[in-house]
Amino acid sequence: MVEELDPFKIAQQQLDEAASIMNLDKQALALLREPMQTVIVNFPAKMRDGKTRTFRGFRVLYNNARGPGKGGIRYHPEETIETVKALSAWMTWKCSLANIQYGGSKGGVICDTKKLNETELENISRAYIRAISKFIGPEVDVPAPDVYTTPQMMAWMMDEFSRIKEHNVFGVITGKPLEVWGSEGRNDSTALGGLYILREAAKMKKIDLKKAKVAIQGFGNAGHFAFSIASEMFGCKIVAISDSQGGVYDEKGLDLKKLDEAKEKTGSVQGYKGGKKVSNEELLELNVDILIPAAIENQIHGGNAARIKPKILLELANGPVTPEADKILSANGVLDLPDFLVNSGGVIGSYFEWIQNQQGYYWTREEFDKKLDVIVTKSFKDVMATQKEYAEKGKKINPRMAAYIIAVGRVASAMKTRGWY
Ligand code: GLU
Repeated sequence: MVEELDPFKIAQQQLDEAASIMNLDKQALALLREPMQTVIVNFPAKMRDGKTRTFRGFRVLYNNARGPGKGGIRYHPEETIETVKALSAWMTWKCSLANIQYGGSKGGVICDTKKLNETELENISRAYIRAISKFIGPEVDVPAPDVYTTPQMMAWMMDEFSRIKEHNVFGVITGKPLEVWGSEGRNDSTALGGLYILREAAKMKKIDLKKAKVAIQGFGNAGHFAFSIASEMFGCKIVAISDSQGGVYDEKGLDLKKLDEAKEKTGSVQGYKGGKKVSNEELLELNVDILIPAAIENQIHGGNAARIKPKILLELANGPVTPEADKILSANGVLDLPDFLVNSGGVIGSYFEWIQNQQGYYWTREEFDKKLDVIVTKSFKDVMATQKEYAEKGKKINPRMAAYIIAVGRVASAMKTRGWY
């Protein structure tokens, strides 16, 4: 049988499994299996030749029982409503597990940023916000950056929304540049949160991070910061990294500055001088202590999971492991830490930015990092405690299921208390 790779079906499958283990009420499950609101927009944006082109965009509010929708906007040539729905579900579980005052949502526009210039990207960003302006707001749904979207785009979007409302609404969007009240620390908070979790996991498994060999798939915001933080803060040796075109491997360890230069000059980390070229698939199968997928969905699947055996698999990307792979990794004893735990630092950073925007009072970088550490460390410990609690009841579950049980349980209780079922 060919493995199911429709991300929304995967999200539903994971929820169904958690619901059955935790005996979730049927009505709660019916409410949680589908998004509350799905918006699809078709809008024009002006291109460099002066003509307009039509774009398709999405914004899905999955659940707002615990707070406004929250989640990034992806600009991807192969974006689909199914992917956005899945990611909005994962945002709901992510915010709930972190125990921050948000529901979950996600957005996307079908476009290829590599083929668009700065003006076109600005026009698309503004036009998308005009198209979805009725469905967002600081108390309604708060977007942020994600795959191929940047702080600059968030600034244009905030500006467009503020024009529509005829006053500044900084808190409508997070991940903004500092000049327009972004937050110190937000830019690398996804990676930093993930690495605080790695620190806790390594402590638990008695792994010395100074001696650890690490491979990272992805050289975007998350992958890049994961490299610098893992090497500078923990002294890990990063032996492999990749981007969408492929990767590079050197068992003596890679140099980030040289990688940046290679990317700048040749467009890919594969232009790195030294080491040897590896494909994205090969990178995942390298013999390393810690593997960090930090790119896109479905990278570790039924076809390659049996060959992937790091001591710790740190899911910094959203949805990198399919359900079939999830089972294989667990059976092989890989400590696979799920995406919505590991990459929650991004949205927690957004939450901090939003709080500061609402108050008009700004924190230091130290305060930001310390508060982030407290939240993610607690989430990690909650997940481990839930796994242990179920094991004591004779039910063997992996960290992903433990995280689901906590997150779904909190959203279900909020819905129950509000009288939704
Ligand atoms: N795009 C990030 C994520 O998937 C951050 C979302 C946010 O900050 O709202 O978690």
